[in-house]
This record gives sequence, C-alpha cells and structure tokens, in this order.
Amino acid sequence: MGIKKEIVDRFKNVLKKENLKFTNQRFLVFSALLTNEGHFDCDDLIRIINKKDGNVSRATAYRTLDLLVKYDFARKMVLDDGIAKYENKILSKHHDHMIDIETDEIIEFVNDEIERIQEEIAKSHGYKIVKHVHQLFVKKIK
Ligand SMILES: [Zn+2]
Repeated sequence: MGIKKEIVDRFKNVLKKENLKFTNQRFLVFSALLTNEGHFDCDDLIRIINKKDGNVSRATAYRTLDLLVKYDFARKMVLDDGIAKYENKILSKHHDHMIDIETDEIIEFVNDEIERIQEEIAKSHGYKIVKHVHQLFVKKIK
C-alpha cells in the first residue's frame, strides 16, 4: 500500500519548515506509521521498519513521530505506564480510546453524545474545540 504523493509532499514541507532534511530514515518512520493500521509504540514501529527496509535509530524515530503528531499526521496517546502509542490520523476517522490497564488493549469508540457535550462545554466557556483527546482507563468487570 503506497502513500499518496500529496501526503508525502506535505511531509516534505513539514521537514523543510522545521529545517530538517528529507532523509530515508525519516521517510521510513513516516511510511511505517501511515501504511499500518493500529496503535504502535516507538519500538513497535522500529521493529516494523527494521524487519523490511533497514535501519532507523530510536532518536530519529522519536523525533519524527513527534513531528507527525505536531502536524496532524498522527495521533498520540499516553498509556498508564507512560508509554506513548501512535496511530495514523490521516486515514482513520476521529475516535476516542479506552485503554485496558491490565492488558494494555486499546478499544476504540465514538459517541456522538460525548462529542456534542464536549462542544457545549467549550462553547459555554466561549471556546470552540480545535482538537481533543479523550482517553478512558478501564479494567474488565469481573
Ligand atoms: Zn485509535
């Protein structure tokens, strides 16, 4: 599965704006996230990259992921243990996350009522929502 040229161009522009070179390593991080569905931590992505295309350093992977989050290519969530997980934001529709604190399983959900109430809360304070992160930390009912 390839990435649209338009998206790659957007990434190139972001790098330019940040005074960074378009390198193969950075491109590999970018494409690993954008061509895989799911929630990955940095090490997962490094493993995916190293399995097929070659080598990427941890520092580069982290810095590139931060950039992808900053420029809305990726969504980031921080789990209870402090580990950050990333997911493709370009192809996945907006959703919220429930994180099972015992298994680290991530359950996605969308609730129109929550979306609406959030808008209302922001509006009642004189704001509109630009983006939001809604995470529920959960435990299976036994
Ligand atoms: Zn998700």
